[in-house]
Amino acid sequence: MMIHRRDFLKASVGAIASSTLAVASESPSPALIAITLDLEMARNFPRWEETGWDYEKGNLNQESKDYTLEAARRVKQAGGRLHTFAVGQTFEQENVDWMKQLIHEGHAIGNHTYDHVYLLAKDLPDLQYRFQRAPWLLEGRDVASALRENIRRCTQAMETRLGIKPAGFRTPGGFAQGLTGREDLQRMLLDLGFTWASCQYPAHPIGEPMKRPASATIDGIIEAQKGAQPRRYPTGLLEIPMSPISDIGAFRNGRWELSWFLEAIGAVLDHCIAGGQCFDFLAHPSCLYVVDPKFQAIDLICRKVVNAGPKAAIVTLDRFAERAR
Ligand SMILES: [Zn+2]
Repeated sequence: MMIHRRDFLKASVGAIASSTLAVASESPSPALIAITLDLEMARNFPRWEETGWDYEKGNLNQESKDYTLEAARRVKQAGGRLHTFAVGQTFEQENVDWMKQLIHEGHAIGNHTYDHVYLLAKDLPDLQYRFQRAPWLLEGRDVASALRENIRRCTQAMETRLGIKPAGFRTPGGFAQGLTGREDLQRMLLDLGFTWASCQYPAHPIGEPMKRPASATIDGIIEAQKGAQPRRYPTGLLEIPMSPISDIGAFRNGRWELSWFLEAIGAVLDHCIAGGQCFDFLAHPSCLYVVDPKFQAIDLICRKVVNAGPKAAIVTLDRFAERAR
C-alpha cells in the first residue's frame, strides 16, 4: 500500500514541477519551499563542549557529508532539489567527490565565504576566530577588503575543484534586517557576480530554553516568517531571507527537543503553503545528524509539500529569485 501511494505521489510531484508556470498564471502562485543546508561544522555539536570548529568551520566530518547526501536523495525523491552553501575551507579537503555527486544530481551549491566571516564586522578581530589567532593571514587588509577577498576566494575554490560557479551567496549568520542600510556590501556582492543573497534571518520569539514552545511562540515565528519574504534592495541585489526557525535557533539557543522543532516547522510550513509564500528552511548537517539522525525534519517538509499538490513545490533558491524578479 505504501508503495502505491509513494508512486502516486512521485508522479504528482513531477507533474507539479512542469506545470508550475501555467498554474501561476491562473491561480495564486504556489508556495516555494527550499531546503537549504549550510555545509559547515557548528560549535556545540556533536558534543556541547565542542568549540574548536570556530577555527575550522569548513573541515567537515564524514557524518555531515553522509547526512547531506542522504538528505539530497530524500529531497530529490520528493521531486525537489537541495540548496547547499559551502565554506571555501572545505575545498582544501582531500576528497570533494561527494560535492561533485550533489552537482551531478542537480542540487545547488552556493558561496558561504571562505572562512565563515562576519559581514557586519566593524573591526578586524570581529571577522572570524581564525584571524584572531592568525592575523597575518589577512596580509594587512582592512575589513572591507578582507571580506571581498574571502568571498572571492570561495568562488575561486569552487571553480577550481568543482568546475562550477556558486549558486548564490549566503552570509554566515543571519541578520534581522539583512543588508538594509549597507549599500556598500550590496554593491560588493553585485560586483562579485551575485544577483541575490540570503542574508536576513528575522527576529522571532523562542520562549524559555528547554521548554516546549507555547502557542504564542509558534505564532510569533509564523509572523516573523510571513514578514521575511524575498525583496529587492535599492542597489538591485535581491534578498532571499532564511525562514525561522533554524536548527541552530531551536537546538542551540532554545535547547529544544526534536518533536518541538517538528511542531514549529510544520506550523510555519502550513501557513506558508496556505498563503503561497516562500519558505527557506535553514539547517546544518553537522547539527542535524546529531539531533535528527532519522531525517524527520526533512521528511516532514517533503511530505507536506507533496501532499499540498499544486499548491507547493520544493525548489532551489534560484527559483525564489526568478519569482522575485
Ligand atoms: Zn554558516
